Amino acid sequence: MNHIIYRDPYITIFQSVLFQTNSTVIKTDEVVLVVDPAWLPDEVLAIRQYVDLIREDRAVFLIFTHSDYDHILGYRAFDADKVFMTEAFANNPGKEDIIEQILEFDEKYYIERPYPIEYPKGDFLVFRDGVHYRHGNTKMTFYLAPGHTADSMMVVIWQLGLCIAGDYLSNIEFPFIYHSSVEYERTLDKMPRIHDRNWFTRLIPGHGDPALNINDWLRRRTESLAYIYALRESIATGVPFDEDSLWTRYRYPRLQQQYHTNNVMLMRREYEQGLWTWDPDALSDLHSADLPEQGSELEEDND
Ligand SMILES: [Zn+2]
Repeated sequence: MNHIIYRDPYITIFQSVLFQTNSTVIKTDEVVLVVDPAWLPDEVLAIRQYVDLIREDRAVFLIFTHSDYDHILGYRAFDADKVFMTEAFANNPGKEDIIEQILEFDEKYYIERPYPIEYPKGDFLVFRDGVHYRHGNTKMTFYLAPGHTADSMMVVIWQLGLCIAGDYLSNIEFPFIYHSSVEYERTLDKMPRIHDRNWFTRLIPGHGDPALNINDWLRRRTESLAYIYALRESIATGVPFDEDSLWTRYRYPRLQQQYHTNNVMLMRREYEQGLWTWDPDALSDLHSADLPEQGSELEEDND
């Protein structure tokens, strides 16, 4: 069954029963965008049918925020005119393992899919911050968002004041850091600047509820940073991490305990490698990943 958790004249968010995974469909005057169509065969097909219903003569673009298997397994259910991803996604050396994860999941639950499982091939590869893509009046800006995975990205849809964030700023998940806590922090740091350049109020995470106003996503950002800093403090000083408060805030400890434990192991390795240091007085002096100037940004027009 398809479960729509949010809808306005342009944006429809389908949410899977599995992990509250969000698949976003956006209809503008000239294009239908489908972001991370996900999970069970009936859910993916319902998204496909919805797209067929609303598209009329519009182009269909598929956008993948990152290569985690749950976000890409709907790829071949769609006949896309263009596929968007980061360059790192396209060159991911772990492609075969990711496909294997999908096959394993499906086989474990005797799931049959009426479409082939393949690793997505990209037509438009995002290789740096602030790359635009315009199709008629639909204008998107892409930002690299490494940290969760190395190949994550965010996209801002200008006329909708909307940011689709991939697996960041969830209200049901603390940061799951598979790639780098340093990059994760940088990605969170640049969000206010992405906002200042593009102006978005609403933000859709990969899992959980959309943030429907600026305060909502800013609060999630603060919570994510606070989690990273608390973990760093605990690793660097030996002060125990307050897991009780973590599980008061996040409601799925039976699954998420392992993600927290993995975060601790990854960040301990980073600390031993000197990738970050803990200085409680230096928190005001945060990273400043420079974004390119507006005028120097790439632009590809396609009308
Ligand atoms: Zn995910």
